[in-house]
Amino acid sequence: MVKRSTDNGKRLKPDTTLAMAGRKPEWTGAVVNPPVWRASTHLYADTAALKAGTRTNEDGKFFYGRRGAPTQWALSDALTELEPEAFGTVLYPSGVAALSGALMAVLKPGDVLLVTDNAYEPTRLMANGLFKTLGVETRFFDPLDVEGFAGLFCDRTKAVMFESPGSLTMEVCDVPALAATARKHGAVSLIDNTYATSIGFPALQHGCDIAIMSLTKHVGGHSDLMMGSASAGERYYRKLRRTAQTLGHVVSPDDAALALRSLRTMKLRLDKSTESTRIVAAWLRDRPEVARVLCPVLEGSAGYDLWERDFTGGCGLFSFVLEGRSNAHRAQLIDALDLFGIGYSWGGYESLALPFDPASIRTATAWPPSNAGAHWPSGDCWGIRLSIGLEDPQDLIADLEQGFAAMEHI
Ligand SMILES: *Cc1c(COP(=O)(O)O)cnc(C)c1O
Repeated sequence: MVKRSTDNGKRLKPDTTLAMAGRKPEWTGAVVNPPVWRASTHLYADTAALKAGTRTNEDGKFFYGRRGAPTQWALSDALTELEPEAFGTVLYPSGVAALSGALMAVLKPGDVLLVTDNAYEPTRLMANGLFKTLGVETRFFDPLDVEGFAGLFCDRTKAVMFESPGSLTMEVCDVPALAATARKHGAVSLIDNTYATSIGFPALQHGCDIAIMSLTKHVGGHSDLMMGSASAGERYYRKLRRTAQTLGHVVSPDDAALALRSLRTMKLRLDKSTESTRIVAAWLRDRPEVARVLCPVLEGSAGYDLWERDFTGGCGLFSFVLEGRSNAHRAQLIDALDLFGIGYSWGGYESLALPFDPASIRTATAWPPSNAGAHWPSGDCWGIRLSIGLEDPQDLIADLEQGFAAMEHI
């Protein structure tokens, strides 16, 4: 859905935009929220109106359900308002659909795609699988090697996929510098911005061309819906939309209404989770069982300086690495937790814990990093990722404390 003529949101602070965005009177009628428009067929007054409708392939004009209806337009309009410099936002049935849909929109056979080595695993899988069979060659890059990055481009390099902080290992990369290099080489920069969202990292302002989010995480925020989005300036928005329509991507109006409802409290939830994350991560850093905390929002942690420079918010996601323990110790610790659920996904109101082992996934960089220096275990590196929800951080710390005690009894 394309930005409407008023464009008020861009002049307001994010908190205000979150309360206002997407609430156009033509969509809401006399109530506060846009109603759930369940619709496939548009009925026309006569055949002349039908013919005129067919020619109107525009957003904001109801034509047929696959092109969306006011509930979905309100959500995409709100997301566009929240992303500085965005012209429009396309919605997808999941975050993975947004990633594949956006890559489909900008790549063709023979192109080379650069993907950050700490990307979300399904991103790697689609690059090495689907896009390989379509004739796209993928090269993975070290997100922290700003100098070496320019050397990776060839005349076939057409797109770069960033993710910062990266999945699981949480490295923050210098997106403005890397995206500027990509632009110089004529490649489009896409970023998986699920961690920070547009209110924590205005990706287009930082030089990216397409900002992608799994709305399943922070926008949904309650672990009850799947959705994705891609926002861009006019040129890339038009490509995204055309490709999404060709692929038949559409989201349900019920889910769009649910996402819009949660969006209103997103900043409150993110701010609270970030604050609790700093408390829990600082406590973990002082524990003898912990070799290293991977938490960009915690002062002194790897990535903090870049996070401070480029980000306007954080979230509840971070990882830590155990000191001198085994896989069995890690399982014992996670299994003993009462308040943390064990599960994939994140960004819900409830806290989660997940074991991770990125060593076998990576190809361009080592894990643990070969030049990491102090406070890394020398051998196996047993990682745990936490998603901190809205619980009281002291209760979460007490739960982790009893988990550490249980860990020693294997
Ligand atoms: C979860 C996730 C996705 C995929 O989102 P789904 O909505 O689950 O398909 C994409 N990127 C990142 C970084 C994620 O954590």
